[in-house]
Amino acid sequence: MNWQPVDCHAHSTFSDGALTIDQVVERAAVLGVRPSVSDHISRDVSRSIASVDAVRAYLDALDTVDVLRGGEFCWHDALWRELPATLVRRFTHRIGSLHAVRLPSGTLVHAFSRHLPSGLTVDAYMDAHIDSIEHLAAEMPVDILAHPTLVTLPYRAIDPEVLWTEARETRMVDALYTAGIAFELSSRYTPPQSLVARAVARGVRISLGSDGHTLAQVANVVGPLALARSLGVADDALYDPVRHGSKTQQSDAP
Ligand SMILES: [Zn+2]
Ligand SMILES: [Zn+2]
Repeated sequence: MNWQPVDCHAHSTFSDGALTIDQVVERAAVLGVRPSVSDHISRDVSRSIASVDAVRAYLDALDTVDVLRGGEFCWHDALWRELPATLVRRFTHRIGSLHAVRLPSGTLVHAFSRHLPSGLTVDAYMDAHIDSIEHLAAEMPVDILAHPTLVTLPYRAIDPEVLWTEARETRMVDALYTAGIAFELSSRYTPPQSLVARAVARGVRISLGSDGHTLAQVANVVGPLALARSLGVADDALYDPVRHGSKTQQSDAP
């Protein structure tokens, strides 16, 4: 069979997506993409899979469809720590997300909040973002870091060159490389090319993710695939849980 890109990150009605799991699979087939369903599994996302029993029901449903079985877990929420190994092994791959970064004070700054703690500076926030990625990479048994450059709403309009200094890029890339976690090229949050080039040069695996929630978005990985190819990444080196394996199979959680 000819190579097809894998969309490692897409949402269904099991969390906040608009498509059923059957519709995700149908849409990917139309686009010539191998589909995943990787819904939110967290107690801190509205419309999310939010309990161990709900995770089991989700995996039971995915077992009835020919689809890769993913999940998007919030690092700052404890649910991923509570899943028994018997459930973890049923995923084909897992995604870690920084939907909130932790400041040195312990305060969380959420990615989709419009309010910042008083006195917070951009530099302090960005340093906390990188600190949090280092903790995520060291603690979380995931295969992919979702949308690595997602920052809190009030800072999204800032010039990426201000946010992503060479020192921060290097720390992020080193943390992912050491942990064996793939860097997601997201269709929704395009990373600076310099950061992706640094990840590729360091030997970090690259993953494609539509992060799709709607018919127009799901399985559309045209932009990320073009970016990966422009940086010299071979198609068959792009993360594919079947080809490259997953930490889910090594889970020794009780
Ligand atoms: Zn996300
Ligand atoms: Zn997502």
